[in-house]
Amino acid sequence: MDAYPPRMAAAGGLPDDAQRRFDELLAHLPAGVVMHDAGGRVVAANRQALALLGRGEDQVLGSPDDDAFWHFVRADGTRMPASEYPVNAVLRTGAKVSDLVVGVPRPAEGGVRWAICNAYPERGEDGALCGVVVCFTDCTALKYAEQSLHKSEERMRLALQGSTDAPWDWDLVTGEIYYSARYWEMLGYAADEQAPDPSAWMRMMHPEDRARVVAFVDELLPGPRQAYSIEFRLRHHDGHYVPVLSRGFILRDALGAAVRLSGTNTDLTERKQSEHRIHELAYFDQLTGLPNRRFLIDELGQILARNGRAGRHGALLFLDLDHFKLLNDTMGHDVGDLLLREVARRLRRALREGDHLARLGGDEFVIVLENLGHTPAAATAEVQAVGRKVLEVLGEPFDLAGRPYASSPSIGATLFDGDPDGIDTLLRQADLAMYRAKEEGRNTLRFFDPGMQAAVDRQAALSAALRTGLARRQFVLYCQPQFGHDGSLVGAEALVRWKRGADELVGPGEFIGAAESGGLIAALGMDVLEQGCHALARWARAPGLAALKLAVNVSVHQLRDPDFPRAVATLLAATGAPADRLTLELTESVFARNPADLVDRMQQLRGLGVHFALDDFGTGYSSLAYLARFPLAALKIDRSFVQDVDHDPNASSIVEAIIALARKLHLATIAEGVELDAQQAFLTAHGCDVMQGYLLGRPVALDEFERRYGQADLQAPQGLQGLQAFQAASGSST
Ligand code: C2E
Ligand code: MG
Ligand code: MG
Repeated sequence: MDAYPPRMAAAGGLPDDAQRRFDELLAHLPAGVVMHDAGGRVVAANRQALALLGRGEDQVLGSPDDDAFWHFVRADGTRMPASEYPVNAVLRTGAKVSDLVVGVPRPAEGGVRWAICNAYPERGEDGALCGVVVCFTDCTALKYAEQSLHKSEERMRLALQGSTDAPWDWDLVTGEIYYSARYWEMLGYAADEQAPDPSAWMRMMHPEDRARVVAFVDELLPGPRQAYSIEFRLRHHDGHYVPVLSRGFILRDALGAAVRLSGTNTDLTERKQSEHRIHELAYFDQLTGLPNRRFLIDELGQILARNGRAGRHGALLFLDLDHFKLLNDTMGHDVGDLLLREVARRLRRALREGDHLARLGGDEFVIVLENLGHTPAAATAEVQAVGRKVLEVLGEPFDLAGRPYASSPSIGATLFDGDPDGIDTLLRQADLAMYRAKEEGRNTLRFFDPGMQAAVDRQAALSAALRTGLARRQFVLYCQPQFGHDGSLVGAEALVRWKRGADELVGPGEFIGAAESGGLIAALGMDVLEQGCHALARWARAPGLAALKLAVNVSVHQLRDPDFPRAVATLLAATGAPADRLTLELTESVFARNPADLVDRMQQLRGLGVHFALDDFGTGYSSLAYLARFPLAALKIDRSFVQDVDHDPNASSIVEAIIALARKLHLATIAEGVELDAQQAFLTAHGCDVMQGYLLGRPVALDEFERRYGQADLQAPQGLQGLQAFQAASGSST
């Protein structure tokens, strides 16, 4: 058709030149234009239209508006029926069609060309419809962009649907924040329940995580990073905290300033649970719930380092149940398991917080004790005590599914300080010691170190013997006289002796310590005190002894017992001893702990009339502050100073100072261990009130003391000369 583009003469009356320019314009217009007659047939189409439709002019002109000739698709890709063609819509309704998206399949190109169509009716002067103009612009690129955007959104949606991730997006410039529905769902809220508030997530943050997360964000934003990840906990609607992994990107402007944060939150609850489960499986024994071997080895490394640094001892105890195999074989594994579980429970209860307990497997358990004493001896004693307790709790009968069962453990122990030999060595040592415990009759504790074991054995034997000795009343009093500065006999100190056999007399230095650590000192002390009170009551009726005081040594352990004052009161009442003749000798070590309690207890005893003297003064805690706080009557100057007083200027200054101090505090002074004339002369010259020592009289058996000093007419000799004469006369020697 040579007349193409067609003249729009129908619109009537364009001058020729204008018509030519108009045709030209149509040809170059970047939009397609197709004109139809009132019957729907194409009468004209410009170049763009032909290009878009992919047909030649000769094919198009005169073609009908039906789908036998055309093939168009709708925006959703389905075939468009001819009735929906823009031209037909206009012909049918007489109204224009706007912005209809129409696809033109182009099989040769392997795709669809898309166009936005607008169509309007042409009317003649009479108003009758005489044609339809359809204009369209190619929007293929736009349509594809939209499709791919849609697709990627779809992909994103599907991907997020399959994961637990909750997207969010934060515009740091406008402060606008977007939390996805899943974000709220993860925290137990409906999506529209919460306002999109930028501080909402911080408000829900676990208080323990807040400072760390704030610091993290403060460092992240000005920094160079483009991506980040961090874990924290957010509060769920029901109050519990959800562990969350937050990962995201930081969008920065040209200057590097963060303008947008965007990312996802992942719910870690399940992962944490499985991590926990894996940890449990790896480090805990499933049967008893106790830490297993692996855990123990990990832990031991740290314990060894800790104890080494603190300069303290620790101990590893290896415990094996006696005859466990027999139980398993005869009663079955289920019953064996019951026992193991119960053993674990009892052990856990018996140990202190801070002690470590693990099950190595089978019937083997390990206990690790930390922070024991500074010396091996002290640590050994503590291990002994723990061992005793373990033997005791496991010695109680078990109830295994209704059947009573008696069990016992064999325990091996080894001490450590620092990590000289390593964990394996320790385990081997304790294991060896445990075998020794089995060999030596089971149901017992053995130490790996033979020296230590020997000491422990001796101690145990001594404790047992002390117990028997107490029951058999083998502890007797010796008395050592004390003289005033004028040489008169003023009192005596009761010193205990152990008559183990007919001719065997054991001094207190050999058993007081054992009695203290073996828990026997209270009974022993009471025995001594009772004998002392009986003596005082007797003396009160004897002319030569009635005025004498008796000093009895009391141990720290006795004074720590809140019942002690009452026990003394009972004794005094029962024996009829004059309380103000009784002096209790304490050492400075009693003041080391809980002085408030102690002052209170001493005051109660003072209330009864009893006096106190501070023994071995100068060797102990030397904080003089307590001297004024405690109701003391006398200081006993330690033997070590007295013995050097005649030749060591240091000692003589100390003794002088003690006497001066005592005088200021209105305390009497007693010198113990006076052996030489020169010592006595020095002490007398410096005003020491009372003297005690071999020079003046050795400790003698109580009855001997009473016989020797209990004669009414026997006046204590004056001065040293007289004393010596007196001693010679009475044949004193012990
Ligand atoms: P202590 O209370 O300081 O007793 C003085 C010790 O020095 C006594 O030793 C005594 O025999 C000894 N002694 C006395 N004069 C001299 C001397 O001139 N030279 C020398 N070298 N020694 C002298 P003993 O009887 O062996 O008592 C030792 C320690 O045992 C006592 O020291 C006291 O702390 C403790 N003790 C004695 N009896 C008891 C008691 O019944 N209960 C308690 N808890 N401890 C006691
Ligand atoms: Mg004493
Ligand atoms: Mg003393």
